[in-house]
Order: sequence, then structure tokens, then C-alpha cells
Amino acid sequence: MKILVVNAGSSSLKYQLIDMETEGVLAKGTCERIGIGGSVLKAKGNGKEKVYNQDMPNHKVAIELVLSALTDSDIGVIEHMDEIGAVGHRVVASGEYFKKTTLVTPEVLEILKEKTFELAPLHNPAAYTGLTACIDVMPNTPMALVFDTSFHATMPEKAYLYGIDYEDYKAYGVRKYGAHGTSHKFVSQEAAKYLGKDISEVKTVTCHLGNGSSISAVDGGKCVDTSMGFTPLAGVLMGTRSGDIDASAVEFLARKKGMSHAEIITYLNKKCGVAGISGVSSDFRDLIAGADQGNERCKLALDMFAYQTKKYVGSYAAAMGGLDCIVFTAGIGENTPIVRAGVCEGLEFLGVKLDAAKNADKNDGSIRDISAEDSKVKILVIPTNEELVIARETAELL
Ligand code: ADP
Repeated sequence: MKILVVNAGSSSLKYQLIDMETEGVLAKGTCERIGIGGSVLKAKGNGKEKVYNQDMPNHKVAIELVLSALTDSDIGVIEHMDEIGAVGHRVVASGEYFKKTTLVTPEVLEILKEKTFELAPLHNPAAYTGLTACIDVMPNTPMALVFDTSFHATMPEKAYLYGIDYEDYKAYGVRKYGAHGTSHKFVSQEAAKYLGKDISEVKTVTCHLGNGSSISAVDGGKCVDTSMGFTPLAGVLMGTRSGDIDASAVEFLARKKGMSHAEIITYLNKKCGVAGISGVSSDFRDLIAGADQGNERCKLALDMFAYQTKKYVGSYAAAMGGLDCIVFTAGIGENTPIVRAGVCEGLEFLGVKLDAAKNADKNDGSIRDISAEDSKVKILVIPTNEELVIARETAELL
């Protein structure tokens, strides 16, 4: 079966067509600037690339264009859209309404729209728009919703609750939901496979370190804790997000800066993190270059990031009562030896020992074991593949 994976943003739409027999990517592409003029689809297929500079006033037109790219006589990989067995849609937030991958029905659409938009106001409405556009264009193709939060649904109550009035949690659903679930799931499964172990026997801390970063404790294949919270603002400091901060400090800062609730939340999401600490950039390549040139605040930002990540690794080892494997993934996790070294440094007491030479090896896109021969804990670099998880989940559901 061939599965189309769709990741819709407010003005963008990324897709991949995956052949589930080989799990290979047949075609992929991105529509940009949907609804804002100057829209473009960059599509790949058949080993070739084609750029469609075509007006896409809405997501429906974007999906129609994607389908014409998939069936194109030159870069196309299918003859007719009926060859697409199902579509898997990435959805950021599920709240407590959906605990697993869900087939789209009119009732599901209604809940998605009425209940989940306020949980992820930037992301879920965009996914909904992409989804309804797909339904319009491909009304007979099954659609699945794959949530970033599903993998974290196995967390126990003691891990996901905040210390607030329990009745308020019940009334408003204010709790930890986590994020990047498809990535944490994928790399924890790949790690067990790579180690030749049954996943039920492995205790792993997965570090998804990218523009947004989250760390998860995965015990026997199940997530038991994760660093992101009610929203993706929580956990370690990130590119531009503050990560965890005392709620009282937020109120204090808002008062001092004359900001409204909405403004202080935007500030914490967009102006903080390593960008705020360094005053230079949210991009770790710039921070590393800055630190190399003696910029102390770039160095501080890198130190804070590694230190906070390390603390999660240690605390999750405690939560699981042991640690067999640490996985680094995503843009920073896969590409930044200095961060991996900073995270592992000082964790020797847990049996974590990095091989400096292996850690410095260039990222070649494969799974790499960067632990020393005598390290009790395996340290792996695993390229994430969220699209493949979405396709697998969709296929399993069908
Ligand atoms: P997202 O998907 O959340 O946008 P990514 O996982 O693509 O983020 O990670 C993006 C970040 O990864 C960049 O901001 C950058 O800091 C870092 N990154 C990507 N490539 C490299 C590299 N070669 N060296 C260092 N950092 C990198």
C-alpha cells in the first residue's frame, strides 16, 4: 500500500508518499506561501525535482497540485490518485480527546475543531484546514490523524499532573501532554532494534533536540515521562523558547515590561531560549561559531542547553530505575558533537561513557553508536523519521 503523509501548516503543506512494502519514499515536496501570494510547490519524484510556481489561494488547491505532481508524466510516481491507500495527517495536539491514531469520521472532525484548537492555536487549525482540503479532493480515501501527543499517553498520572487543584485538572484538562511523540517513538524503537534487544527490556532516554527540544523516558517501549508540558513551551530552553520558568517570574516580568498575558507568552516563545541568552541566534551553528570566537554568551547558551538536557537524562534514569541507552536525534542531536559531549559529561557515575572520536564523526545519516567500548549505557545518534511513523501508524490502523 502507498500512504500519503501530510503535515499542514497555516501557509505550508509538506508531504511524502511512502511505499509501505519497502518503507521507501516515492515522492515528497513542500507547498509554500499558500494563501499569501507567490506560492510555490517544490516536488521530488523519480529522482527529479520540479518547481511549480503556481497560485495556491488555499489548501484545497495545494492538495490538487500535489496530486498532479504525484501523477505527473515526468516526476510522477503513480498513475492515478486511487493508488493512494490512505492519508496520514500530522496533528500536534490531541488533549485528552484522542489517545491514539484515529480514523477520520464526521464526529472526529467535529471534536478536532471544537475541542483541540485552543490547545495548539497555531498548529491544529492548520492541520484541520489541510485535512478538510484532502477530504474534499479525495473523498473516498481513508484519512488518519496521527498525534504528536499519542506516544505520551502512557505516562502515569503522577508524571503528567501538575500540582494544581485536581478538580481544575479535571475541568480544564490542564496537565502535561508532551510533544514530538512520533519522533520519540521512532528512535526508541530503532534503538532497541539496533541493539538487538526486545524493546520491553530497554530503558531509554530519547533526546529530540531541534528548534524545539524535548526529552522522554521510554521504559520497555512506553513513554513514562517527557519534558514538554501542557504546551511545547516547557522543558529545556530551546531556540527561542524559554523552557521551564517559575510561573511567578512570568507574572513579574509581564508587569515590569507592561505586557499582556498574550504578549508575555509570545515573548517566552519567540524571544527567549538560546537566542535570548546569547543575543546572537537561535541556530546552534551560529552559537558554536560565536563560542569559537570567544563570545561568552554563546558559550553560556550552549552550556545551559547541555546542562538542562543532562539533568533530564539523570532524572529520567531515576524515574525508570536504570538506564540502558541514550538516543540523540533531530537537527541538534544528530549534528552537534559539542552538545552531546556536554550532556554526557559527568554522567560516568550512571555508566555513561562517550567515545570522543566517534562522537566527532560526521553525520552520515546512519545510526551511529558513539559510546566507549566499556560504556554500560549505549549512546546512539539516530536520524529521526516522523513521516515514516505517521505512515506506519496509518497503515496499522487500516
Ligand atoms: P525543527 O524540525 O524543530 O525545525 P530541526 O530538528 O530541523 O528543527 O533542528 C533545527 C536546528 O538544528 C537548527 O536550529 C540548528 O540549531 C540545528 N542544526 C541543524 N544542522 C546543524 C548542524 N550541521 N550543526 C549544528 N546544528 C545544526
